[in-house]
Amino acid sequence: MDTTIVAIATPIGYGGVGIIRLSGPTSFDLLKKIFIPAKQEPFAPRKMVFGKVSFNNITDDCLAVYFPAPNSFTGEDVVEIQMHGGVSLLNETVKQLIEYGATMAQPGEYSKRAVLNGKMDITQAEGLIDMIYAQSICEMQVASSQMRGDLYQKIIEIQKQLTDMLASIEVAIDYPEQEDLPTQEEITKDLPTLIEEIQHLVSTEKVGMKLKSGVNVALVGEPNVGKSSLLNALVGYDRAIVTDIAGTTRDTITESYQFNNVRFNIIDTAGLRESKNKIEQEGIRRAIKSVQECDFVLKIYESDKKTRENNFFSSFNSKNFANVLNKCDLVKDTTGSFDIQISAKDNINIDKLKQLIYDKTIDKNLLSSQIIITNIRHGELLKKALMSLKDAQKDLKNVSLDCIAVLIHQTWDLLGQITGETSNEKIIDTIFSKFCLGK
Ligand code: GDP
Repeated sequence: MDTTIVAIATPIGYGGVGIIRLSGPTSFDLLKKIFIPAKQEPFAPRKMVFGKVSFNNITDDCLAVYFPAPNSFTGEDVVEIQMHGGVSLLNETVKQLIEYGATMAQPGEYSKRAVLNGKMDITQAEGLIDMIYAQSICEMQVASSQMRGDLYQKIIEIQKQLTDMLASIEVAIDYPEQEDLPTQEEITKDLPTLIEEIQHLVSTEKVGMKLKSGVNVALVGEPNVGKSSLLNALVGYDRAIVTDIAGTTRDTITESYQFNNVRFNIIDTAGLRESKNKIEQEGIRRAIKSVQECDFVLKIYESDKKTRENNFFSSFNSKNFANVLNKCDLVKDTTGSFDIQISAKDNINIDKLKQLIYDKTIDKNLLSSQIIITNIRHGELLKKALMSLKDAQKDLKNVSLDCIAVLIHQTWDLLGQITGETSNEKIIDTIFSKFCLGK
């Protein structure tokens, strides 16, 4: 890339330190235009230098570091300037660098350059962005595995086997007269294993999506059964208003907690009852919508009423749910019709309830997979690759080897789009436009 890009790499706001990053052939020259080292020592690669940024009437103490190509994040000459984290200070410095010839970076442009310069593949760059946005330990672990290149390695491994298969097919087609040629069955003997491997990757998307956005759990029940109290007990602080006035929660409230390193989003909904009040009716409509979209439902009952199905509950029966008896400090259930008895007010069995939600929503086998798919783009391409490989397997007995070769080629290309090997420029631009500025 012949331009030098610049951006503030730290979040925009007020902070102790703010970092400006330059990448491109003139990075070091641009640094020298605004930076005066405290000592007249030559800049050594990757060594912090203390000094001052100084231009117009602006001066700030700062640290600067220079990473000569190719040993940098982008593979180009990179400079990072650690200044004080004032919004105006950082903005003015960027403006000055642009005046000296730098170009404002687009979102994701540093990572895009890293990919184009062969420092990482697209899956690793996507893992990096997932790491930045991760909100739970599990999300971080999956992102970190992707950043290490686990998914990339797996895709390369599968592609290698496909390449071997294609090579054997080519030989069989081009030199049919040759003796000892492997049979069609021998050539394609690894297809079932490859299908199984891709199938497994696809199946992990189910847990991967839950890790990425959190598991959505809706609390439903009649007014006053203790839904808001339960939300507060689960998240560990008073988020929702608790009163004994029925119909207080009109809108849905969502708050999260982590359990076993997974993020759970608890959605407190309006109490479900027949109502003529327009605002309450809207709250109930939103409650029903939340339930339809969530992963798990907790149907809450209070102990001083007999267990009975609320009219609204019947529409939730297709959902994964648990029956929870709240207020067990007042009355215990003896009928055995509840999955768990709790007291939101006295914090009884709240950890057990968290375990129950975890057990009912997280597939532990999938969670322990070495690679977990958390990206819709990867999932969609893997599903297409799986389909085309399954077509090859299905047609094995009926069609000629060159038709099989077309399908195997297609699978190879689809897998290559995951790593970026067979992606066109437009796809790459779209992927990186979703990244944050300065990354
Ligand atoms: P919601 O309308 O379902 O959200 O119910 P709230 O959380 O607002 O609670 C309604 C009333 O029940 C409040 O007075 C709470 O203090 C009370 N409450 C909630 N949970 C418990 C519990 O476990 N035990 C007892 N005794 N009261 C509770």
